[in-house]
Amino acid sequence: MSFNSWLYVYANPINLTDPSGMTPQGSLPPCSPMIMQAGIPCQPTTPPFTPPLPLPYCLPIVVNQGLPCIPLPCPSLPGAGGGTPAPGNGGGGGSQDPVLFGIDFTPEGAWTAIHKNNAMAGVAALGARFAAIPGIGGTAWSAFRNVFGITDTDKMKFEWNVLCENCRGDKDKNYTQAIMYEKCKNADGTQGFDDPHTVYEFRPPPKKAKPTSETLNCKPGGAYTHNSHWIEFATMSDDPVIGRNHAVHELGHAFNGRFSGNPVTGLYSAFGTDRSGLCPNENGVLKWQQNTADTQGEVWADTFLAWTFSCYTDSPTGRDLQPWMEDYMAGLITGG
Ligand SMILES: [Zn+2]
Repeated sequence: MSFNSWLYVYANPINLTDPSGMTPQGSLPPCSPMIMQAGIPCQPTTPPFTPPLPLPYCLPIVVNQGLPCIPLPCPSLPGAGGGTPAPGNGGGGGSQDPVLFGIDFTPEGAWTAIHKNNAMAGVAALGARFAAIPGIGGTAWSAFRNVFGITDTDKMKFEWNVLCENCRGDKDKNYTQAIMYEKCKNADGTQGFDDPHTVYEFRPPPKKAKPTSETLNCKPGGAYTHNSHWIEFATMSDDPVIGRNHAVHELGHAFNGRFSGNPVTGLYSAFGTDRSGLCPNENGVLKWQQNTADTQGEVWADTFLAWTFSCYTDSPTGRDLQPWMEDYMAGLITGG
């Protein structure tokens, strides 16, 4: 029997769906009990995803605390070789390959090439900065992996999700993101989100979530860092510096989680929430201060950004902050 593609499709209607990418996949909300009860079309879900806590690498700070850890890996990836950077893999001008750095961009197709490039520029610059710390060394990507405890089976997840942060569910009302999606209508009744590539995960809403006027007006923005290996981005600038700095700022939150919140409290105890040492924004654009809230966590994340690119003001605070950060980061990471 000769293969007849038309007949094959005709006989199997399920194959009429187009997996080529032109048809939005996963644009229906996941089937939660409330969604199904409301009669809303939905997609069957898998059980909620709970990221496992990463076991840290045996950096001195971990060993000194007697914590369980896994030995520092002998890199087996291309470019590795006894701590000597291979051509193209060391320093800020080296590789920006997400595979090398252990970055998992998800979901498939949601990230534009520009946003990926911006994010990887931040990752690579940060890795080069880590590698420059005495006692760390290696390539930008190996230093990035070691400091964050990234392995090929436990990567750094960069998730694109327009529902992140400002359109989260409410714990008490047991809202899921899918239900919030249904609630997120513009004033004219149209859907507040129209990104055809967005995939909605069913998961318990975080405790901190509360419905706000912003939630219900659906203006997602920025990013949300869940833990040391998981950052959700709702937006990112196409500008190469602003987008890159955004990624580094979020990695500052992840770094704080990686070191059990010590960076935030350490900086606060020394400088409070003084921002005068950080490079200023210009024309109201969030460039060097990505989140100008005077909270301890945001001041830390922007100071982490300042450290990554050595961008401080020539001011009393800036002149104190720069050497303090140099010492603090090296001591924290190497246990020295
Ligand atoms: Zn932040």
